[in-house]
Amino acid sequence: MTASGGSAEPGRDCPLCPRLAAFRAKQRQANPDWFNAPVPSFGETSARLLIVGLAPGLKGANRTGRPFTGDYAGDLLYATLKKFGFARGDYAERADDGFILVDCRVTNAVRCVPPQNKPEPEEIKSCGGFLAAEIASMPKLKAILALGQIAHNAALAALKQRKAEFPFRHGAVYALKSAPLLADSYHCSRYNTNTGRLTEAMFEAVFAELKKRLA
Ligand code: URA
Repeated sequence: MTASGGSAEPGRDCPLCPRLAAFRAKQRQANPDWFNAPVPSFGETSARLLIVGLAPGLKGANRTGRPFTGDYAGDLLYATLKKFGFARGDYAERADDGFILVDCRVTNAVRCVPPQNKPEPEEIKSCGGFLAAEIASMPKLKAILALGQIAHNAALAALKQRKAEFPFRHGAVYALKSAPLLADSYHCSRYNTNTGRLTEAMFEAVFAELKKRLA
């Protein structure tokens, strides 16, 4: 049993990361109408694809209560999911916009918003139990897409795979032993898209490959 107690979703007042709990308390005071709690995964557990992001953005997922929702990164992610048939409806940056994921679920390596968008290694480790439970809760899971190196390493740890054997590489699709495929993409963050590290075409190529692998 891990620190998560085998549960895939932390409680609203999860105490595992003292720094994140303190930041959450501060945000609850400053912005009482925001979600300000561990952000639950989005989509059905019957999905075959699990996308793992980094952590909720302060004014995005932490405000709205749905991964990537209201975050800059969500614009590209959800438009791309819709384009490749992994989503339906109109994404409107609100948890109640009626946007639906299809055969796909979205979660984060760290469920609480970290100060400066940077979780500490200890926090990633503590939250890893929830990711492992999340993966275990998906009976039809065929592929995990890690957005960025932190998500990649968190997924490997959750799957009990050796980091050295499977280095993070944009566009990689690893066949792991007794586990779902692990695909990598650079994170669809504002920084990565603004600097050209990740283009729309590069991101779409990742989904085109996943679509093929899931056919
Ligand atoms: N919002 C999220 O929920 N996750 C990310 O990785 C980035 C923004």
